Amino acid sequence: MTAQTTVPTKKEFCIDFPLYEQFTFAEGQDHDGWNVFYSQEPIDTYCPECNTHSIFHQHIISDVPRYLDGWVGSKRHHVTLKCSRDSDHRLYFLFDVEGRTVQKIGQYPSLADLNTYDVRQYSAVLPKEDFKEFTKAIGLAAHGVGVGSFVYLRRIFENLVDAAYQTAKNDSGWDDDAYQKSRMADRIQLLMGHLPEFLVENRSMYKILSQGIHELTENECLAAFPVLKMGIELVLDEKLAVAAKQQKLEQAKKAIHGLVSKAGAENRPGISG
Ligand SMILES: [Zn+2]
Repeated sequence: MTAQTTVPTKKEFCIDFPLYEQFTFAEGQDHDGWNVFYSQEPIDTYCPECNTHSIFHQHIISDVPRYLDGWVGSKRHHVTLKCSRDSDHRLYFLFDVEGRTVQKIGQYPSLADLNTYDVRQYSAVLPKEDFKEFTKAIGLAAHGVGVGSFVYLRRIFENLVDAAYQTAKNDSGWDDDAYQKSRMADRIQLLMGHLPEFLVENRSMYKILSQGIHELTENECLAAFPVLKMGIELVLDEKLAVAAKQQKLEQAKKAIHGLVSKAGAENRPGISG
């Protein structure tokens, strides 16, 4: 019965499973297979159109087979999930079945769109192109693509370090020669005060960025992925905090300006009262 625990749920098969990954349901698991295509169970997942989590239900358009093995054979199955907030918000999935082996062969929105909800906040502080590559990298890593996703993240990380460098090089006593000659881990150290402390303390984790792509295996890249992603998020978290503080200061300035000009108007004879 241990295999039972690894059977993907409808949500896992639709939302988390990469395309073309096959799963073979055992004969005793017909009900689990049936669930993937016909279950009406609520699915809590991100709705790209609401831009937040929502509850989805399957939209049944054809007859539901009465037999639990009705889905078995050589067939294609469509699954359409409808957002409970707005029935026009739909997620589409296409499955191919051969015998009891099932694979997802198509979906819209993309896997990356459905799995990048937690990084959406960063679109406010990343250039548009970098943000696109950030979400693309997450999508690739979700598909098990190591080197490809790593290349995208490395570029974004380097851009962020370079942005810190652009500020740091105006500091008095800045040694540009040393910086230019340094590798990534040492550059992070030189940029102390311009990058999050955590990055500086753990700079040795970023040694991998100085290695050529051809020296790295798929698995090394996949292993480095979360560390690199976290580094990027830490830099972006600080940028978000700075932007939020800046916005509050602007609001405060406006409010104070409003008060002062109002007080001025009231004190002028002939205007108030
Ligand atoms: Zn929705």
